[in-house]
Amino acid sequence: MYKSLILLLLNTIFINVLWSNDYILNINDDMTAIKVTICSKRPLQLTSSLDNATHYLSKTSSHVEILNGHQLRLTKPDSCHWLIIPTNTESTAMTGQLLKVPTGLLLWRNEQIENDVINVQSPKAANAKLVNHSLPLPKINHDQYKWPKEPSFMSLFAYFGDFSQKTLRISEQSGSNLSLQINWLSKTLDSQYDSLISWINQVARSFVATSVLSGEQTVQLNLFASHSSESVPFAMVYRGEGTSIDAQINPQASLSQLKTDWTLYHEFAHLALPFIDRNDAWLSEGLASYLQYPLMQKASVLDEREAIEELWHGIRRGQTNYQELSKPNLTLAQLSSNMMEFRSFKQVYWRGAIFWFQVDLKLRANGDSLVRLLNRFNRCCRDLNSIWQGESLSAVLDQQIDYPFIQQLVTQYNNSTQFPQTDRLFNSIGISIANDNQIKVLDRPKLNRFFANFKAH
Ligand SMILES: [Zn+2]
Repeated sequence: MYKSLILLLLNTIFINVLWSNDYILNINDDMTAIKVTICSKRPLQLTSSLDNATHYLSKTSSHVEILNGHQLRLTKPDSCHWLIIPTNTESTAMTGQLLKVPTGLLLWRNEQIENDVINVQSPKAANAKLVNHSLPLPKINHDQYKWPKEPSFMSLFAYFGDFSQKTLRISEQSGSNLSLQINWLSKTLDSQYDSLISWINQVARSFVATSVLSGEQTVQLNLFASHSSESVPFAMVYRGEGTSIDAQINPQASLSQLKTDWTLYHEFAHLALPFIDRNDAWLSEGLASYLQYPLMQKASVLDEREAIEELWHGIRRGQTNYQELSKPNLTLAQLSSNMMEFRSFKQVYWRGAIFWFQVDLKLRANGDSLVRLLNRFNRCCRDLNSIWQGESLSAVLDQQIDYPFIQQLVTQYNNSTQFPQTDRLFNSIGISIANDNQIKVLDRPKLNRFFANFKAH
């Protein structure tokens, strides 16, 4: 009897281990291959966000059935299955000690995720190249990540290798948290460790201080060295399997040069909205452009007058692009969905910024504000779609206010062939613009109030 009890006990332990729905990424000592192990009680159909992901699998265990380019089935219940991904294919990149892998090769998603933990197992050899790893997902501890809640629509990148990493968690009293996983992906930036932290901290704090977010957002922030003379020549937000920001940085840039560069404020401002279809890029680029200078004012990099001047200069750059492009019959919607072809970036960004400026002032006239509206949207509705169209976004924003006007204004902007007028907008915050395009502050308290109200709570 004791024997059978022991057997039963052993069996239970064994089954629990085997049935624990483990998801494990194993990187070998020299980083030439990654093994994905997936254990499950029942057969599973898994999907990758990368269209041709199954083409890159060199080997699988025997009960893995490949269905098409991005789907496979684990056919044997109560088993662990495995996939081998070699890292010398064109889908991955190895630079020195750094391996870059699309998350679509590593993350095979089952819609009924039973255990939302992804384990990363580092090699055991003392001379192994792997020191650190980073997936664009919430981190539970050094070797565990959480599956994203929403189904993924785009593969981002995971990094493995010898690089420095720091997690910054920035909280705001009313409960919005930003968790930044910062990766130094160029060795030349290591000497700038402290000033880069100080800069990123300042930018992120100015954004979190608006309380536009709700709950926790995790961002993988990848820093690369650049040879450009600009402080931050390029930065971009990527969404899909989580959220990443890539930023190229001039290693010679001083801390004050970094802090006074608008680029990273712009990228953080993008986090206020979920992913917007790139055909409607004028809405997301417009919002980031509208918020970037108020964030710099919040960070005490610009005072109110300087910040409003910068906003006006941005709008002027958009106007100049509109005049020089001279395509009078093209609508903003057309210019926005073909920015590359028409080289219409500046007017698309700044016509979008004027749109949000107009929305903000109308909301404020009714005792509300843009950041408050975005906070409500982020609380109620952000996760309803993983990709938002301009139309769906504006319809949901309108549901959050008593006097809907946003959807109609979006249509008006979409169809407009004119660069919008801004005199009235500036006048209502105590600013006039003279014929020589110089800014005049007519009502300083009004202007200060305009900037003070970039705060949801
Ligand atoms: Zn942008």
